[in-house]
Amino acid sequence: MEDCIFCKIINGQIPSNKVYEDEDLLAFEDVNPVAPTHVVIIPKKHIETLNDIQEEDAGVLASLLLRAQSIATEKEIAEDGYRIVLNCMPGAGQSVYHIHFHLLGGRIFHWPPG
Ligand code: AMP
Repeated sequence: MEDCIFCKIINGQIPSNKVYEDEDLLAFEDVNPVAPTHVVIIPKKHIETLNDIQEEDAGVLASLLLRAQSIATEKEIAEDGYRIVLNCMPGAGQSVYHIHFHLLGGRIFHWPPG
């Protein structure tokens, strides 16, 4: 999608600090981190929100979570704990309309979230 920031990161029009890439997924450091570890993990397929996923996307969504797990291990936050966040729509704080997981770690997280 030509106006999507994350599609521009995927195609190299906007630079990013890449953490992981394969043919289906990309992970990069969040430009405005809210925790010592803050990685954004996205599918290369442009899907605007969780409301838009289809059965055919199940595999790539599972891959995103498996990759979050392996990045958490690489970043040495797996043992202490980490949080995966997916904001869906404005009421949840979604600001980029290309589905993504936030992988957050390196500090204590409270519940309920703000
Ligand atoms: P959300 O508010 O859940 O849609 O999350 C969007 C995230 O994308 C925010 O945490 C932003 O800081 C992050 N973000 C936006 N633009 C960039 C960028 N160019 N590089 C890295 N992260 C970005």
